[in-house]
Amino acid sequence: MNITIIGGGLAGASIGYHLVKMGHTVTIYDREDKGQATFASAGIVCPWISQRRNKKWYRLVTASARYYPDFIRTLESETDMSTGYKNSGAICLFKPDIFDKATKRISDKAIGHPEVGQVRQLTREELSELHPSLTTKYPALIVEGGGQVRGLKLLQAIKTAFIKHGGHWKQESYEGSDDDSFKIYTTGAWGSEQDYQPKIAHQRAEIMHFKLLNQKTVQSPVVMALGPTYIVHLEDDNYVIGTTHIDTDSFDTSPTEESRAYLTEELYKYFKPEDVEITKMGVGLKPYTRDYLPFIGYADKNTFIVNGMGSTGLTASPFVGLEVAKLINNQQTELDLNDYSYIEPQT
Ligand SMILES: Cc1cc2nc3c(=O)[nH]c(=O)nc-3n(C[C@H](O)[C@H](O)[C@H](O)COP(=O)(O)OP(=O)(O)OC[C@H]3O[C@@H](n4cnc5c(N)ncnc54)[C@H](O)[C@@H]3O)c2cc1C
Repeated sequence: MNITIIGGGLAGASIGYHLVKMGHTVTIYDREDKGQATFASAGIVCPWISQRRNKKWYRLVTASARYYPDFIRTLESETDMSTGYKNSGAICLFKPDIFDKATKRISDKAIGHPEVGQVRQLTREELSELHPSLTTKYPALIVEGGGQVRGLKLLQAIKTAFIKHGGHWKQESYEGSDDDSFKIYTTGAWGSEQDYQPKIAHQRAEIMHFKLLNQKTVQSPVVMALGPTYIVHLEDDNYVIGTTHIDTDSFDTSPTEESRAYLTEELYKYFKPEDVEITKMGVGLKPYTRDYLPFIGYADKNTFIVNGMGSTGLTASPFVGLEVAKLINNQQTELDLNDYSYIEPQT
C-alpha cells in the first residue's frame, strides 16, 4: 500500500517503521512543532506500579512494556544508535503506612509475568547504593523489570531505521493532497486541527533538569516518588524531575514560574538543596482524549487515527506501532484494537 503518515512523533514514527518493514511505501510528514511530547519527554517504562484500574489501558501498557526489550534490541542492531533505553529497574517510594500493602499489590502483578522481574523491598543501605544522594526517609522497593528511555533518542533511532528500510521522511507540514494514499494521522496535541472524532485535548507537562553535585557517578534506576513525581537519570550527573499536568488550550511552550516553584519544592523533598543545581526546564504537550485512553481507529475507510497517547505514550508507542501495522497489513493483532475506539464517557 501507499501510506502517508501525518505527524512524526513517537506514535507516527513507530507505525511507519513497522509498516515499511512489512513492505509498504510509507511517507511521514513531520513539522517538528515546538512542544512535541516526544521531544520533551524523558521517561519511564514501568506500568505495573500505577493504581489506575482501567483494564484496557493496563492491557495495552503491559503488552507494550513486554515488547520493549526485543524492539530496542532490533532497532539498535539495525542502526547502531543508542536509544537511551535502560532496563535497570525502577525504585518506588511510599509513605510508611501503605508500604507493605503496596509491596503486595505490585508483587501480585508480577505473578505469571516474568517481564516485571523481582519486586523487592530495599534496605536504606541498598537504596543509598543505587541512588547515593536520594533521601532514605521513605521506604523503597525495586521493580527489577522497570526501565527508562529517552524520547528524542528513541525517535532519532526509529527515524534512521525507517529511512534505512526505504521510508520517506518529509520535515514539513502536511497540507493535504489529492493522491489516493491511505492516511494515518498521528498529530499529537495538534490533532485538534483535524475535524475527526474524537476531539483531542492536551496537557502541558513541564519537567525540570538538574545536576546532582557531590556524589560518585552511578547509573541510578528511575525513581517513582510519592504521588505523580518521578526522577530520571539521563547521563553523567544530569537528571530530570517531573512533571506538571496542566489542562490547557494554549500551545505556548514557555516554562512558567509556578511549575518551576512546584518542581523545586518536589525536588527538595528528595534531595538536599546543597546537592542539586537546577539547569533548565522542558515543556511538552501531552495529547489525550476525554476517556484518557489512546484512540486507535478508522475515521473513514481511507483514514486512520492514532492519538491521545497521554502520559504513557513513550511506553505504548512502539507496540501500538506494531499492532497498527499488523491491522493495516491484515494480520492478527495481539490485542483487540476495537477496545481503543472512542466511547463517549457518561457525564
Ligand atoms: C514531559 C513529559 C514526560 C513524559 N514522560 C513519559 C513517561 O515517563 N513514560 C511514558 O510512557 N510517556 C511519557 N510521556 C508521554 C509521551 O512522551 C507521549 O505520549 C508521546 O511522546 C506522544 O507521541 P505522539 O507521537 O502522539 O505526539 P508528539 O510526540 O507530540 O508528535 C506529534 C507530531 O505531529 C506533528 N504534526 C502535527 N500536525 C502536523 C501536520 N499537519 N503536518 C506535519 N506534522 C504535524 C507535530 O509537529 C509533532 O512532531 C511524557 C511526555 C512529556 C511531555
